[in-house]
Amino acid sequence: MVMEYEAVIGLETHVQLKTKSKMWCGCANAFGSPPNTNVCPVCLGMPGVLPVANEEALRLTALTGLLLNCDVPKRSKFDRKNYFYPDVPKNYQVTQYDQPTTRQGYVDFEFQGGISRVRITRAHLEEDVGKNFHFDRFSGVDFNRAGVPLLEIVSEPDLTSADMAYEYLNALKDILMHGGISDCDMEKGMVRCDVNVSVRPRGSETLGAKIEIKNMNSFSGVRKALEYEIPRQIDVVTKGGRLLQSTRRWDDIAGVTEEMRTKEHAHDYRYFPEPDLMPFEPTDSWLGQIRSRVIELPLARKERFRRDYQLPASDAETFKNDVVLGNYFEGIARQSKNPKAVANWVINNLRARLSETNEKAARENVVETESEPALMTLADLKFSPGFINELVGLTESGRISSKIAQDVFNEMFSTGESPTAIVERKGLAQVSDTGAIEKFCDEVIAANPGPAADFKAGKEAALNFLKGQVMKASKGKANPGLVGEILTRKLKG
Ligand SMILES: [Zn+2]
Repeated sequence: MVMEYEAVIGLETHVQLKTKSKMWCGCANAFGSPPNTNVCPVCLGMPGVLPVANEEALRLTALTGLLLNCDVPKRSKFDRKNYFYPDVPKNYQVTQYDQPTTRQGYVDFEFQGGISRVRITRAHLEEDVGKNFHFDRFSGVDFNRAGVPLLEIVSEPDLTSADMAYEYLNALKDILMHGGISDCDMEKGMVRCDVNVSVRPRGSETLGAKIEIKNMNSFSGVRKALEYEIPRQIDVVTKGGRLLQSTRRWDDIAGVTEEMRTKEHAHDYRYFPEPDLMPFEPTDSWLGQIRSRVIELPLARKERFRRDYQLPASDAETFKNDVVLGNYFEGIARQSKNPKAVANWVINNLRARLSETNEKAARENVVETESEPALMTLADLKFSPGFINELVGLTESGRISSKIAQDVFNEMFSTGESPTAIVERKGLAQVSDTGAIEKFCDEVIAANPGPAADFKAGKEAALNFLKGQVMKASKGKANPGLVGEILTRKLKG
């Protein structure tokens, strides 16, 4: 019998917090400044300096805890993790060892058509390190990043595949971005991941040797590394080999993981409590203020939009990702009997027109170098949101055809005039007056004897051509249902 193996995966996700200043000093937390310009004696690790905790970083950590369904204990503390490396000027990193600010939560996310849950062990606060640069003949260190507040979110080993890890990471990123915790810009290294992965016979309770893949800076990289590493480990054990607890790195170009060091060479960090910082003891009122910043989680929002407005998953996904557009939709949909139609206008017409307008503005402004054109947003719309409901009403009642409705929308977008006013001013109301339609039909039949004869001879398709001609003659205003009925009656009668 062939033994089946399963993967056991846990992730440590590092996220830079969205604060104005660094964790222990007043230096700017900014990406892209010239090397070593956002530095001071504190973040350069000079002797004798004292750290002062960044209050907003503490708030964002507690807020992350609440968003990830964690406990925020009454007391947490900071510890020193001691090691030497050129990008750590103090020779230790301040982190949280045994008493983190948040612990024991979970993240729910969509996976393979259902909802999966990954438990969160802890999310603790620490500081980022500097960055080494290697040139042809020398190396340099940029300390701008040293001391930037960093959150490490540790998951339980609840993930079982590369795809599942990928979906979890995306869900986590959604929560952190929408919650205002981090911009999560992968290109700027704001999110990095360490992956712990082992394999074991399916159904076994014991964990295999834990292998860590360090410093992944993209989610697709995590997925690719796991797609390589899981079969590699299964291959070793099925051939009777033994895996050792070790650390590996992912080579994205070669598409392989490589061993960096085994357990025998693991660091002993000699953690001890940070003597320069008080333990952190949040009060109930402080936590109460944080609670008021908790947002509706993206997954809950998507489910609510599907349930309350009977939207298809794709529309709900759009409004989950674009919170401002979703809120705009919701303001209108609450007053509407047909939210699905409102969603169509908002997504297919309004959003499309906004991006068209902005793209056009961007093209016309290419010569202007420094100043980018201000983007047109929902706040700049000339028409009132209620007009979308009015437009839906006009179409549903048959006063205007859906084709005319598109023209009315465009007019309303450009001028801000109400749909009813536009229809009246331009005489766009659908013609449902049978006398008028009969007249158009007679004219079209007389002018097109060939197709008329074809239809009489049983060629059903010829009717569509004649219908099209009547619609054209009426400038799109004839009620298409009535046109079909009258033409059929006249030709068959
Ligand atoms: Zn500093």
